[in-house]
Amino acid sequence: MYTEEQVMILEKGQISCDEFEAQLCDYADGELPKTMKAMMEAHECTCEACAESKRTYLLTIRLARTLRCEAKISTEIENRLREKLNERLGLSLKPIDLSMN
Ligand SMILES: [Zn+2]
Repeated sequence: MYTEEQVMILEKGQISCDEFEAQLCDYADGELPKTMKAMMEAHECTCEACAESKRTYLLTIRLARTLRCEAKISTEIENRLREKLNERLGLSLKPIDLSMN
């Protein structure tokens, strides 16, 4: 299944930097259709900024998962990580509400 945005990208036949970043989350989750993945990989070859974004994103995700498995990641660290992701990648991940715990 394609999202509306993905259909637009496929129709255009190319992906912009903004769109690339918007798809990163699904890419990291392995949820992207093959054609989308191929388009992202083609874009990466011509755009160092997006290639770098992807590296940072995947690395941070991997780090977060490792941390969470090895020792329970504290809410504080998790929030710091989210902040960093927002900063680096222009995402808008919300901090975990500390008062919930
Ligand atoms: Zn780009």
